[in-house]
Amino acid sequence: MEQINIVWFTNDLRLDDHAPLYYAAQAELPVLLLYCFDPQLLQHPTFGSRHGWFTLQSLQELQLQLHPFGQILYTPHIEIRTALELLADHYQILNVFLQKPQAAMQHVRQQHHSAQQFCQQNNILWQTFNQAGLFDEVINTPDWEAKWKADMLQMPYRVNLTELTTLKLPPAIAAALNARPIPKEFKKGEKPFLPDASLQAPGPSNAARLLNTFVQTRASGYRSLRKLAFAAQMASGRISAHLAFGNISARQVYQHIKQARATSSFPAELTAFADNLKLRSFCLQQFSLHPNMEYENLNYVVNGIRIKWNETQFEKFTEAKTGFPLTDAAVLCLKQTGYLNHRLRALLASFVTLHLWLDWRKAAPWFARHMTDFEPGIFYWYMQIVSGCTGVFPAWVANPTREARKIDPHGLFIRQWLPQFRQVPDALCGNPQAMSALEQKMYHCEPGKNYPFMMISPETTADFAITELHRIFSKPIAIKETTRLQQLLLPLPPRFAGKYT
Ligand SMILES: Cc1cc2nc3c(=O)[nH]c(=O)nc-3n(C[C@H](O)[C@H](O)[C@H](O)COP(=O)(O)OP(=O)(O)OC[C@H]3O[C@@H](n4cnc5c(N)ncnc54)[C@H](O)[C@@H]3O)c2cc1C
Repeated sequence: MEQINIVWFTNDLRLDDHAPLYYAAQAELPVLLLYCFDPQLLQHPTFGSRHGWFTLQSLQELQLQLHPFGQILYTPHIEIRTALELLADHYQILNVFLQKPQAAMQHVRQQHHSAQQFCQQNNILWQTFNQAGLFDEVINTPDWEAKWKADMLQMPYRVNLTELTTLKLPPAIAAALNARPIPKEFKKGEKPFLPDASLQAPGPSNAARLLNTFVQTRASGYRSLRKLAFAAQMASGRISAHLAFGNISARQVYQHIKQARATSSFPAELTAFADNLKLRSFCLQQFSLHPNMEYENLNYVVNGIRIKWNETQFEKFTEAKTGFPLTDAAVLCLKQTGYLNHRLRALLASFVTLHLWLDWRKAAPWFARHMTDFEPGIFYWYMQIVSGCTGVFPAWVANPTREARKIDPHGLFIRQWLPQFRQVPDALCGNPQAMSALEQKMYHCEPGKNYPFMMISPETTADFAITELHRIFSKPIAIKETTRLQQLLLPLPPRFAGKYT
């Protein structure tokens, strides 16, 4: 039997700074390049077809990059374990090279575990490599920060594609591997999903292009504009999805920013961006150390406080019928583009978990499916913080009307998504109920007619949430548990303390 190695691509959809590919290329054996659309992963409630679309487009770019060198990447719709079983019937697989699933969800870790077990049983070496900026052993935050910086400055793993020998499968084996077609909807994304094309196009070259436009021009007002609902769409980096799918590594981004900063006319903006990149790695590291935050409240004392699920209320929220224009506009934007800036994500999480008092665990899959950049390590961390499930960080009770005045003072974002508000003056956009009946008629925006009434009174719901959380976290047992958690969790690096929104 021919001896081969396999590089299994997961959320590292690039060819540059790719440790598994780098080491496989050095092994001087034919390499099978493989990505598997795992049917079980595709059925998970957090998976949306926009994720399938982003993946497929990214893979197609890798295939185009490999093509001139005669190299092949297979992308079957099959479980990794089944693929390995099938290939092991025809080849002697010596090694499987892959990136560690360090900040992955439980079902993904199980998928890896099952494939790894098969390899162990069949004398195949399972060769895993850390993701840039993530570590197995972390003693404390200063230790993590020092390791992170050193890792970011390390030389990227570069592969000379001419020196790679990829395996071309005989037609019969390729056909068996590819027996199941890739879901059609991945080819164009969901029907109502229109990516804001130039800012969310998948693939490594688009990641590099976005980063270039950012360091050259878009970053000039980053620190202030990224908070504003409308401006953030252009003024933020917008590379979160590319990082989530691994179109670009955190190390590549960091080195690009560092180099650009040396000659930039707005270096402080780029420093703030690099800080956020570090915060991203910090969240992932925290999740890798405490992966149960995917399904358990970090602080058990809040277990059972949001027992009743109200589907009607949640549906009103997901259909953008809350009666709060900033909230509704954010929901529509998320559904349509897959993207929101940080503040709007926090606003939505706060609305659902604090104002509607719904359990974040039941709401999470809807959010995850719609965020193109869904990254469990960051997502669950913020869902738990915003909703007040830690005790360590305060909940973020955002008043949607007041937030509109702060982050959409001219109603630009609201008008972008809600046509009823086109003629409403800036100051009233976030609070249509404040208009007189005459104004409502005059501006063609009439709550109860072409726009819903407010579904809650935010003062009352905020009051309830604050009182309830205060009551729970004042109990001696809660104080004890919060202290325990404080010691268990990695503390935020000093620069970020208290800066989670
Ligand atoms: C409830 C909630 C859920 C979230 N879920 C996700 C998620 O699934 N995936 C995700 O990538 N981010 C998530 N975030 C964090 C943050 O909102 C996004 O990273 C950011 O909005 C992405 O936009 P950008 O690429 O334009 O960011 P930029 O402002 O350009 O920042 C640069 C990079 O730094 C990272 N980053 C930026 N802000 C933060 C932050 N506050 N914390 C951690 N990392 C940050 C991102 O990787 C981002 O690409 C979530 C935030 C909240 C409140």
